[in-house]
Amino acid sequence: MTDVMVFTDLDGSLLDHETYAFDAALPALEALARADIPVSIVSSKTRAEIVPLVSQLKLEGPIIAENGAVIAYPEGSVDSAGHIDDIRQALEALPENLRADIKGFGDMSIAEISQLTGLGEAASALAAQREASEPFLWSGEGAPDKDLFADKGFHIIRGGRFYHIIPGRDKADAIRRVTSQMAKPDAKIWALGDGPNDLSMLLAATKGALIFNPSLQVTAQLPIKHSLYLTKQAGPSGWAEAIFTFLGEKKT
Ligand SMILES: [Mg+2]
Repeated sequence: MTDVMVFTDLDGSLLDHETYAFDAALPALEALARADIPVSIVSSKTRAEIVPLVSQLKLEGPIIAENGAVIAYPEGSVDSAGHIDDIRQALEALPENLRADIKGFGDMSIAEISQLTGLGEAASALAAQREASEPFLWSGEGAPDKDLFADKGFHIIRGGRFYHIIPGRDKADAIRRVTSQMAKPDAKIWALGDGPNDLSMLLAATKGALIFNPSLQVTAQLPIKHSLYLTKQAGPSGWAEAIFTFLGEKKT
C-alpha cells in the first residue's frame, strides 16, 4: 500500500515526442524511486509495447495499456476489460457497406502498420499485439457513429492517428481501479500528460501536470478554474520539472 502514485502518459511526456528519448526524466524517476513512489504508464500502446520500456526504466507500478482496457499488475496478474476476439467478431457482424469503411489493425499487415505509425517493423509487430481494443482507420463520410457497437458494450474514441474500439473502461476508470487495489484510501494521485486525451485524468488527479507541447493547443481546452501545473519545458524535461515541483511541495 502506497500513499502517492504517479500515472503518466508516454509520448510527449515521459518520452520525447520525436526521438522517444527519456534521459532528461531520469533524475526525477530516481528521486521517485528513492521516495518509494511507484510510477504507472497509462497509454494507448499495447502491453507488449510498454513492458520492455517499463523494465528499462525499472518502473514498479502497474501498467495501463490500450487506453485503459488492459491493466497488468507487477505481480503478474492481468485484468482485461474485454477480448480482442469479441471486438473482431463485432466488426465482422457489421453490414457489408459499413465494414468496408473500417480498416482495423487486424486487417493490416505489419508493413502497413509501420507505414501508418512511423514505427519500425519490430515495434509495429508489438503494436499489433492487441488484447482488448482495436485501432482503425475510417474511410466513411464524416466521423463513425460513436454508438456503432453500443449493443455490444464497446465505445469508439478518437486518438491521435486512429479511432479506437474500446470495451467499456477508459483511462480514468482504469486508474480508479488500480488505486482501489494498490493505494491507501487517502492516497494522492499525481498525473502527467501532454494531450487532450490526458485532460480528464489530469483534472481528476490530486496533482496534475500538463506537459508543454508546442504542437498541441491543450491549454485552450482547460476549464477557466483549474489547478494543473503547466510545465515550461516540453517532453521529459518538463516531466522532470513537474515531478521535482510536486516532490518539493510534498516536503512542505
Ligand atoms: Mg502524449
